[in-house]
Amino acid sequence: MLDYIIVGQGLAGSLLSHFLLKKGKNIAFVDNNHTDAASAIAAGVINPITGRNFVKSWRTDELQPFAFKTYAEIEAILGLQILYPRNVAMLFRDVETSNNWLARLSDPALGDYITDEFDQNAYQQTFGSSVVSGVEFQQSGRCDLPAFIVKWKEYILKKGFAYLQENFDFDQLQVYEHKVVYKNLIAKGIVFCEGHAAERNPFFAHLHYSPAKGEMLLVKIPNYPFKEKMAKDGIFIVHLNDDLYWVGSSYNRDFEHNKPTTQEYNNLTNELSAMLKMPFEVVDHLAAIRPTVRDRKPYLGSHPLHGNIHIFNGLGAKGSSIGPYFASHFADWLNSETELDKEVNIKRLKTLR
Ligand SMILES: Cc1cc2nc3c(=O)[nH]c(=O)nc-3n(C[C@H](O)[C@H](O)[C@H](O)COP(=O)(O)OP(=O)(O)OC[C@H]3O[C@@H](n4cnc5c(N)ncnc54)[C@H](O)[C@@H]3O)c2cc1C
Repeated sequence: MLDYIIVGQGLAGSLLSHFLLKKGKNIAFVDNNHTDAASAIAAGVINPITGRNFVKSWRTDELQPFAFKTYAEIEAILGLQILYPRNVAMLFRDVETSNNWLARLSDPALGDYITDEFDQNAYQQTFGSSVVSGVEFQQSGRCDLPAFIVKWKEYILKKGFAYLQENFDFDQLQVYEHKVVYKNLIAKGIVFCEGHAAERNPFFAHLHYSPAKGEMLLVKIPNYPFKEKMAKDGIFIVHLNDDLYWVGSSYNRDFEHNKPTTQEYNNLTNELSAMLKMPFEVVDHLAAIRPTVRDRKPYLGSHPLHGNIHIFNGLGAKGSSIGPYFASHFADWLNSETELDKEVNIKRLKTLR
């Protein structure tokens, strides 16, 4: 008998399987070939200081080092670089933002994340003289999520684990007290990691979801001088390979479908034109839906009536930094090695109205 069937092999399912495999568990995947996966188009930026007020991301002191360690483990398994440590270069074009930052500069909690590398003249040459100041943060980087999930699938198949490439059919799931059966798969439990599609999961549709659609551009920028930095000025410019860059993204809670729209194409190209004083060529425009939830904390736990039906979701807009730690924590909990952290346990939702 299998230990777990994992439904969804995006970032959440892949990371969870990594930690379950480390415990010697026998798993199987069901995934519809990454149709609609947020992980397939995400920049994967890990950014410890965010927002207008420059606050440290939630629990970043423990989550970020754990993420870097986990991606190094996965790189060793796959023989592929997926983590690219890069400074985040924040560009300020108005005095108010610049002053906001100066007011935060002396906060000792931020000290480890700030560098003195911001070269204003160099940034002005590429982004225009209206860049009045800025800062570069460290302990940041990009995780190549699209490469990770594709290569992880190949690895799982090569290792001989079952992998059903299909839409999960809830009518085919039989749930018993000590096992679940899905087609020819028999397992002790099942873990749903379906990203935003969890809204349609009959076992977990009762949880609060507030998915956010994101659109981004793939852009060629010949001779762009900041390949080693992730420049942020409303949108991010992140180097992928050769002259190709990830540019984005939009963030919309109000959307009708998961496809790219003309409106966001225009918004993103206008923002890029305003930011970058260099020629560029848009080569693709993609969209996906982030599995964001009301209180922006992951969803970990079990169905209230079926103790062998689990969920690992809610990685929101920060999956690459928060995913590894909580995938490991969830694997420990599934293996009865720890209590579930109350901040991420879905039982907390009774109090979320
Ligand atoms: C434009 C954009 C930019 C982003 N940028 C960043 C960033 O810079 N940094 C960062 O940390 N995060 C970023 N994110 C968020 C990041 O993508 C998510 O946090 C993370 O990828 C979520 O992973 P997941 O596995 O939960 O969901 P997903 O990646 O959506 O994976 C779910 C998987 O389940 C499969 N699936 C769903 N339903 C079924 C079903 N019924 N049957 C079979 N298979 C199913 C899907 O096909 C998919 O493969 C971004 C997202 C977007 C859209």
